[in-house]
Amino acid sequence: MSQPVAPMFIDGKEHTPDRPTRVLRSPGDGTECGAIRLGTTEDVDLAVRAARAAAPGLRTTPVFERADLCRRLADAVAANRTDLARRLSTEHGKPFHTEAHGEIDAVVNAFRDAADQVVSMRTESIAVRDPAKRVAVTRRPRGVYAVVTPWNFPLAVASIYYLAPGLATGNALVWTPAPSVAGVAAELTAILHDAGLPAGALNLVTGEGPVVGNAAIRHPGVDAVAFTGSTATGHRIAEAAVGKPLQLELGGNGPTIVLPDADLDLAARAIAGGCFANAGQICTSTERILAHRDIATPLAERIAEHAAAVVLGDPFDPATTMGPVHTADLAAKVRGQVEAAVAGGGRLVAGGTALPDAPTPNYVPATVVDGVPHDAELHVAETFGPVAPVVHFADDAELRSLVHRSDFGLSGAVFSADIERAIPLAESLPCGIVNLNEASSYWEPNIPAGGVSGTGSGYGRTGGPWSLEEMTEQQAIVITTRSGD
Ligand code: NAD
Repeated sequence: MSQPVAPMFIDGKEHTPDRPTRVLRSPGDGTECGAIRLGTTEDVDLAVRAARAAAPGLRTTPVFERADLCRRLADAVAANRTDLARRLSTEHGKPFHTEAHGEIDAVVNAFRDAADQVVSMRTESIAVRDPAKRVAVTRRPRGVYAVVTPWNFPLAVASIYYLAPGLATGNALVWTPAPSVAGVAAELTAILHDAGLPAGALNLVTGEGPVVGNAAIRHPGVDAVAFTGSTATGHRIAEAAVGKPLQLELGGNGPTIVLPDADLDLAARAIAGGCFANAGQICTSTERILAHRDIATPLAERIAEHAAAVVLGDPFDPATTMGPVHTADLAAKVRGQVEAAVAGGGRLVAGGTALPDAPTPNYVPATVVDGVPHDAELHVAETFGPVAPVVHFADDAELRSLVHRSDFGLSGAVFSADIERAIPLAESLPCGIVNLNEASSYWEPNIPAGGVSGTGSGYGRTGGPWSLEEMTEQQAIVITTRSGD
């Protein structure tokens, strides 16, 4: 049965040109669950023009009005929570009853937080030598943004990082979501428009990233670029965005370090959450566990107990605690990394094998591998699947060298009972966030998130007030007084 084709949105209206379409298939059961139009550079051009026309009015809308708008948008998303969660779960594969609803709640909070925080942004007054001058340093929106987002949190990453802060600060946005989740992106965009979003403030163009994302980034009418996705794509984005302000939130593979004095029960529980939440498809997932050799195997076995309790299954079954991964290609990559690590000497402690009779190849069980070889892909590359790879280290020197075996620098974790040792160790890690005695994936949007310079994880900071700052720029207003008194 053919599915309705999701509309694009340009200038506040549905945009439904005659374009080739792409069918979306549910990772849960492989059935057709929607379709999108494959937009063109012409669609992007229309979207940028609409955004340019809207930008001056958005900039001059009083900040309290923009905050009120964000609250209305939050309320509208909350009112459509179940429908949005259903579509999200169907297109993405995350469990409907838990993670999909949680993601919609995060979208609601993003718009509420942006409303609260934007009205508290500060204007500075600075001293200068000329006694006749007064200088105010204000913040203004950057103008028209190209926003390119990944599929792992199709709505939450887009909303927390860019849509809520971008609209709250008075930017006009051209959003090109990952095509495999563009149906639910269209549903969110429709809800936001029905709630009173001004025409041209948020324009949605669906299609393949190298076509529509690339065209949006390069468009001369786009003033700034916000990208979240893989490191490889991020490097292409940086070339395309040359000369424009750019935020790059890229991949992660930060270390989770477990010292011999750590509380192993606490560590295993937190690490299992960091490995298996969202089926491991989080940029800050616990991707590699560097454990002292005295405690590494007992730790792996305790993580395996948690892995055994994970219920992998149909995203709509209330008993399911972990859904399939988003694509069959990703499932094959994850399985390949696990097999290579085991062939290289690692020991499979949990999972690893395919789920029998699964309706799609995307069902990857919660997996634990102990004694992962130091040079295994499972250790040095971003896996982005539900795997806990335990890597052994003997002493501080080996730990230091292992930390730098991977090029990423997004998040990390340290487990130790000795806070005096853990804090300097945390400070030495090349990670934008380090959690002590907590999973590497723990994050609340009021905490600045982003990659460390010199790593493959990008730059810029997102979340709450940090996103508001990134999406605005300073402007100095110099006032000359009459007398200089
Ligand atoms: P991806 O790089 O394949 O795609 C991301 C987006 O870029 C998609 O919308 C895609 O359509 C678009 N795109 C692809 N090629 C393009 C091009 N040439 N020009 C313009 N746009 C293009 O990433 P993904 O597989 O969707 O997402 C997973 C990755 O995202 C992981 O590496 C993950 O770690 C990362 N991620 C990072 C963060 C963070 O905060 N740092 C958050 C979420 C996800």
